[in-house]
Amino acid sequence: MEKKPIYRSYSNHNYRNIKQIEKLSNADLEAIDVVGSVLPFKTNNYVVDELINWDDIPNDPIYTLNFPRKAMLEDGYYDTMAALLKKGASRAELQTTANEIRLKLNPHPAGQMMNIPEIDGVTLSGAQHKYRETMLFFPSQGQTCHAYCTFCFRWPQFVGMNELKFAMKETDILISYLKQHREVTDVLFTGGDPMIMKTKILKAYLEPLLDEELWNVQTIRIGTKALGYWPYRFTHDDDADELIELFEMLVSKGKNVSIMAHFNHPVELSTEGVKKAIKRIRSTGAQIRTQSPLLKNINDDPKLWAEMWRKQVNLNCIPYYMFVERDTGSKNFFELPLLDAWEIFREAYKNVSGICRTVRGPSMSATPGKVQMLGVSEVKGEKVFVLRFLQGRNPDWTGRPFFAKYDPEATWLNDLKPAFGEEQFFYEQEMHAMIGDYEETLQE
Ligand SMILES: *Cc1c(COP(=O)(O)O)cnc(C)c1O
Ligand code: SF4
Repeated sequence: MEKKPIYRSYSNHNYRNIKQIEKLSNADLEAIDVVGSVLPFKTNNYVVDELINWDDIPNDPIYTLNFPRKAMLEDGYYDTMAALLKKGASRAELQTTANEIRLKLNPHPAGQMMNIPEIDGVTLSGAQHKYRETMLFFPSQGQTCHAYCTFCFRWPQFVGMNELKFAMKETDILISYLKQHREVTDVLFTGGDPMIMKTKILKAYLEPLLDEELWNVQTIRIGTKALGYWPYRFTHDDDADELIELFEMLVSKGKNVSIMAHFNHPVELSTEGVKKAIKRIRSTGAQIRTQSPLLKNINDDPKLWAEMWRKQVNLNCIPYYMFVERDTGSKNFFELPLLDAWEIFREAYKNVSGICRTVRGPSMSATPGKVQMLGVSEVKGEKVFVLRFLQGRNPDWTGRPFFAKYDPEATWLNDLKPAFGEEQFFYEQEMHAMIGDYEETLQE
């Protein structure tokens, strides 16, 4: 009999028990202690034993994806934290300073205030309805992950309330909202990682969507990194079989089940564990679509993206999005100019067959919508960026191309200026009217 993999997580407190840790230099260890006391740090035995190449530390991409490195924190903050640790500061003191730094790093102190749906005067705080057809739902018990990505800014909010009852109450409100909003065809469960939940809990969220009266809900999407961080969730965990039956049941009742799998690097597609998990999910009739941000120091290489898309297709997954990452505490460490992002995308896209070209990108999830950088062009002697909406806050913006001044340094939509001497981009006036200036200030 094959040995059953048991999940073991590592964070600041116990990472020194990892046996490969002897490969780290003192400087690497110090960086984990210092940066890891500000940015969330968590990894696990699958990542450590099967994904990281410990002979390539600290530059190994998966090491970089999970382990804090010195360059992830600005020198000033680093030195402050390092000094506190060195002098043996109290837990409280460390906590206070870490929180101060976090606040300064956080680009959206009160972000995502808009698009929170309301039903009969009750706000559905764990949901977001930004694009007409798709409702985003954050189950309160899926707000953590099997490991934490160093680039991620969804500072894991641990929710104390772990009762089944609570899940059902949230779902009740969601269901009433969906009955009053027939334009919604897709419900997208996201987190954290919803696959962190036990099947029993997940079922409490998903089963009610089978209500015959919810004829508008055709697609159930689950955004997850579990295939990359803990594929045994789908094959070996105690309730893995039950999970597979749940997917089968949803499919048999006529729902399209799409696992939105987050893969950052081809090595995540190379283990026996992930291959078996993908096969098992696909055997239920559920689809797997893949997405990843483009990250300097992890995957800023077109060859690697081409390999990733080919491997995904080979394993029966559908490449979906390449994102431009901006929501990150370690911005400087991971950020790339839009121009470079486009060049990497195009170089990879050029080198794969049409079957892989279901992928769209590089895409920015910005205030007005998902904006794709289509490339560089020249119109009447002016060099411009060509962009278009993949998703618009106003659905009518979707698919509309527009032009910005060429700017090789710009890393985000609001660094860009309209081309041809225009005052504003075509959507701006309407967007201000829609959201007011409030949220925009938050997103700058
Ligand atoms: C990306 C995204 C969706 C889903 O958009 P699709 O293009 O249909 O995948 C829904 N809501 C929000 C807020 C998003 O960012
Ligand atoms: S798995 Fe997703 S939510 Fe979790 S840390 Fe990584 S990017 Fe963030």
